[in-house]
Amino acid sequence: MLDEIRQALLGWFEKNGRTFVWREHPDPFTVLMAEILLKKTSAEAVNRFLPYFLESYSSIAELYETPETELARMLGPLGLSSQRAKQMKGLARVLVQSYDSKIPCSRDELLKLPGIGEYTARALLSFSFGKPEAIVDTNVARVIMRVWGVKPSRCEARRSPEVWDKASQLVNARPKRAARINWALLDLGALICKPRRPKCDECPMNGNCTFIARKFTV
Ligand code: SF4
Repeated sequence: MLDEIRQALLGWFEKNGRTFVWREHPDPFTVLMAEILLKKTSAEAVNRFLPYFLESYSSIAELYETPETELARMLGPLGLSSQRAKQMKGLARVLVQSYDSKIPCSRDELLKLPGIGEYTARALLSFSFGKPEAIVDTNVARVIMRVWGVKPSRCEARRSPEVWDKASQLVNARPKRAARINWALLDLGALICKPRRPKCDECPMNGNCTFIARKFTV
């Protein structure tokens, strides 16, 4: 069943996956900037803004050289500009001073960086460094709970080990496709398996979904 689900996800993603700048150019700098901007801002807004940002700043060294006030001005249209400029400057300082201006490719090192949490570390490892790391946000957790009928043991499903276990199984068996599997799950949760009125008729998982099976048997 796992392989069938994986194939269905990948097939659906090829035709329906969303296109974002950080997916087309998943280098570590672009992904890191995107993840900072995506906090509390929609993916569509970040996707529109990021190309302008990258025209002005394309490396850690450039961020390091730029005064924080100038960076905040540039980030103004997206909101939270002072907060984001401060985080970018803090990160750039540590990366220049301790990592030779390079973004590290190990989870432990990434988690030592200021403002980098588990989600961003995993996004970098999966999207930029090609490692088989699962990524679980609220949308992905919902897809997994519905497909496998998983009951989360924590009140936040995205933090439940049962959910992570399934997400990890999906990416571990196909390490080279891990980024695409993660993107497919993120998109399926955002576009099809919505919290209310999931579009099960359009879903590639509808032949393997516990949510549907229960609906039809109860
Ligand atoms: S079949 Fe329906 S409930 Fe199951 S994953 Fe797809 S959209 Fe979600």
